[in-house]
Amino acid sequence: MQATRETKIEAKTDHALARAWEALESVPDPEIPVVSIRELGILRAVRRGVDGRIEVVITPTYSGCPAMSQIAGDVARALDGAGLAPYRIETALTPAWTTDWIGEAAREKLRAFGIAPPTGQCGSGAQALHEQPLTFVPPAAPVCPHCGSPHTARLAQFGSTACKALYRCNDCREPFDYFKPY
Ligand SMILES: [Zn+2]
Repeated sequence: MQATRETKIEAKTDHALARAWEALESVPDPEIPVVSIRELGILRAVRRGVDGRIEVVITPTYSGCPAMSQIAGDVARALDGAGLAPYRIETALTPAWTTDWIGEAAREKLRAFGIAPPTGQCGSGAQALHEQPLTFVPPAAPVCPHCGSPHTARLAQFGSTACKALYRCNDCREPFDYFKPY
C-alpha cells in the first residue's frame, strides 16, 4: 500500500525533483566557490519524503565545519528561487563525509584554483604510489598546484580553514593550501 502511494507521488513529481537537482547543481561551496556542493559530495540526495515533500540531504565535510549553516541557507535559497517550496533540508552525519567523495572534475578545479586536492584515499594510505605495502609510508606530500613539483613542504597544520594545511613549493616557492585527506 505504502509502495503504491509513493510510486504515484514519484511519477507525478519527477519533474520537480529534476528541477531541484538542477537548481542545486550550481550552489557553490562557501569556502571554495569554484566547486559546487554536489561536486564536493556534500549534496547527498534529492528525493521525496513519505509525505511527498522534497527532501534534500546534505552531509557536512569536517565535523563542526562552520560553513554548514551557510550551505543549508544557500540550498534553501536555490530551492526557493526555483519555486520548489515546501521542502525539507536534512543533515546526514552517517556515513561520514570523506575526501574520497570529491569527484575528479572537482579535483581538477581545486588545482586550477591553487589548492592541492587530497592525495591517496582516506584510510587506505598511499599504496598506489609505493610498492612495499608493509613498510611505514609517511603521508604523501601534495604536488604543487602551480608548477606540478612534488617537492613541497608543510608550513602549518592549518591553512585558510581547518580543513586545509598550508604548504609551500620548494621549486617555484609559491605557498598553497592542501585539502587534507579525511
Ligand atoms: Zn611549485
